[in-house]
Amino acid sequence: MAETARGAEIILDGVSKHYPKSIALDDVSLEVRAGEFMTFLGPSGSGKTTTLNLIAGFTELTTGSVYIDGKQMDRVPVHKRELGIVFQHYALFPHLSVFDNVAFPLSERRVPKAEQKQRVLAALETAGLKGYEDRFPKELSGGQQQRVALARALVFEPRVLLLDEPLGALDKKLREQLQLELRRVHREVGRTFVFVTHDQEEALTLSDRIAVFSAGRIEQVGTAKELYEKPASRFVAEFIGESTVVESEDGTTVTIVRPERGELVRDAAAAGPGRPAIPVTVRQAIYLGSGWKFEIVLPDGAVGVVRGERELDWIAGGTGEAVLTWDPALAPVLPA
Ligand code: ADP
Ligand code: MG
Repeated sequence: MAETARGAEIILDGVSKHYPKSIALDDVSLEVRAGEFMTFLGPSGSGKTTTLNLIAGFTELTTGSVYIDGKQMDRVPVHKRELGIVFQHYALFPHLSVFDNVAFPLSERRVPKAEQKQRVLAALETAGLKGYEDRFPKELSGGQQQRVALARALVFEPRVLLLDEPLGALDKKLREQLQLELRRVHREVGRTFVFVTHDQEEALTLSDRIAVFSAGRIEQVGTAKELYEKPASRFVAEFIGESTVVESEDGTTVTIVRPERGELVRDAAAAGPGRPAIPVTVRQAIYLGSGWKFEIVLPDGAVGVVRGERELDWIAGGTGEAVLTWDPALAPVLPA
C-alpha cells in the first residue's frame, strides 16, 4: 500500500448516548491522533462499542459532536465517512470468493477492474493471505476469515480503521499471532486504528495509547506505561495489570503495590525505617523460571501478589507469615 498513507485525527467532543432506560455513554471527550493505534479497553457494557458506532455513524448522538480530520460528522452518513470496519461478527459474503469479498468495496466505488485486481492482491498480501484468492469463506479457518475481513477493510485505503473485538472469537494462540500481525499492518499502512477489547493484555500488546472505559465514561487515556505506573483511579489500577491493593486504616485511600514493587520480608524490623510494614499470609509460592510469584492475603482478607527473585528462606513449603513492604515513592495512593 502507498507509502504516503496517512491516518485521520478523530475528536469526540462531549459525546453522550442515552437510551430510554440507560445511559450508554456519558459526556465522553477524546482525541485520537492521526496514525495512532488507539485501544478502547473496559469491561462488557462500559460503552466501547457504542463509541465506535458513534464514530462510524451507525448510531445517532444524544449530545456532542464527532470530528474526523476537523470535519464535523453529525450529518455525514456511514458510507461517506470512508472508514474501514472489522467487527467480531462482521460476516463475509459466503457466496463470494476471497477475491470478490475483498474487491466488494472497490466494486461499490466503481474502481476500474485492473486497478481492483492490483489493490485486492496488495491488501491480501498485507493481511497475510497471498494465494487464497479463489477460496470461499467456508474453506477458511476463523483466523483466516478475520484476515479477509481485515483485507476488505483496508482495500479502499480508509484513513481510519475501526475494529470491534475482531480477535474475540479466536483461540489464545491464534489471537496472539494475529495481534502481532495487526501491529505490523498498522505500521505498514500508517492509518489510524481504533481497536476495542476487554482484554487488558491485548490492549497492552497492541496500542500506542489506551482509553479505559467504565460505566459509560473514560476513566483515563494514556500509554500502557502511564496507565500501569500512574493510574488515575482505583478502577484503572485494578483493571490494568496485577497489584496488591492496600487500604488505609481509615478506609479513604488505597495504595497500589505492583507485584515487582512489593517486597516480602521476615518481620517489620526487616522492612527498614520509614517503610510500610503490613503483616500478610503467604498462601502460595509459584516458581516461574524467571523468579517467584507469591500469592498473599492481607489482614482485611484481600488477596495480593508479589514477585521476588528468591524463595522466602524462613517459609517452608511456600506458605507462612511474612511482612509486605514497598518504596512509598513507587506505589500510587488513590481514593478508595
Ligand atoms: P461494550 O461494547 O463496552 O460492551 P456497549 O457500548 O455495547 O458496551 O453498551 C454500553 C451500554 O449501553 C450497555 O449497558 C448496553 O446495555 C447499553 N446499550 C447498548 N446498545 C443499546 C441499545 N440499542 N438499546 C439500549 N441500550 C443499549
Ligand atoms: Mg462491545
